[in-house]
Amino acid sequence: MFLSRCPNQNVDLRHKIRDMKSAHFHNRASTLASMLRQTSRILDYIYPAHCHLCQCPLTHGRHLCEPCSESLKYTQAPFCKLCGECYDGDISSDFSCPNCNDLKLDFEFARAPLHSDGQSRTLLHDYKYRRQIHLSDTLGDLLSIGLDDPRFAPYLDEGILVSVPLHWARLRKRKFNQAEEMTICLKKKTGLPYINALKRIRNTATQTRFSRSKRLENLRDAFELRAKYKNYIQGKRIILVDDIFTTGSTTHECSKVLLHHGASSVAILTLLRG
Ligand SMILES: [Zn+2]
Ligand SMILES: [Zn+2]
Repeated sequence: MFLSRCPNQNVDLRHKIRDMKSAHFHNRASTLASMLRQTSRILDYIYPAHCHLCQCPLTHGRHLCEPCSESLKYTQAPFCKLCGECYDGDISSDFSCPNCNDLKLDFEFARAPLHSDGQSRTLLHDYKYRRQIHLSDTLGDLLSIGLDDPRFAPYLDEGILVSVPLHWARLRKRKFNQAEEMTICLKKKTGLPYINALKRIRNTATQTRFSRSKRLENLRDAFELRAKYKNYIQGKRIILVDDIFTTGSTTHECSKVLLHHGASSVAILTLLRG
């Protein structure tokens, strides 16, 4: 009765409940992910690791052998200066692809070290949907290859790492956020700070079959900045990490929120380029 008489308080209360649910499931998922990481380390110690793709035994603490690692399809220049789409041919100057010519994307550029096909897709799929969290360090190593792009240099000097968030309902189902886990590996490798700055406030439908415009519409206002990070990101360069770049709609929406709240620029790093 009280709630029905106070519509503003009603909305505030709903927001508070939503924030509490989001924080609750994020904390639970972080704890669970950390337990899974520790368990997989203990198992690696008792049972030496095997290559995830060819099953050969390994001793270097990773889950991909050298031949399998070398057989992955790495992206190579020339690629679109904005979305990172690769092109065959001999283009030495900066160019943007036809897709990007009539788009407004809020990030500075996007890079991914691997094409999304065959073995690399198997790795990500097993990691993400079959909860193979022991692949975190292996995939984090592969992801970090993308940072060799010289355009990341100013970001590596003074940047912040942020990952694309999952909605709490999806996090509850999946138990860990694959983008966040890989970002934690990057934090160890680069020494850059990582903050869980964004939250997904709408559990959007899966985007796989949508056109680009439909994806953007589907994602509008789906992300928010966590208020406690507002001061922290002022004037900062942000490396935004996700698992796969397809049309750029998700990373564009996240970049929009970060820039709106005062970040100076955003560059995108994803494991795969779809
Ligand atoms: Zn192998
Ligand atoms: Zn492009």
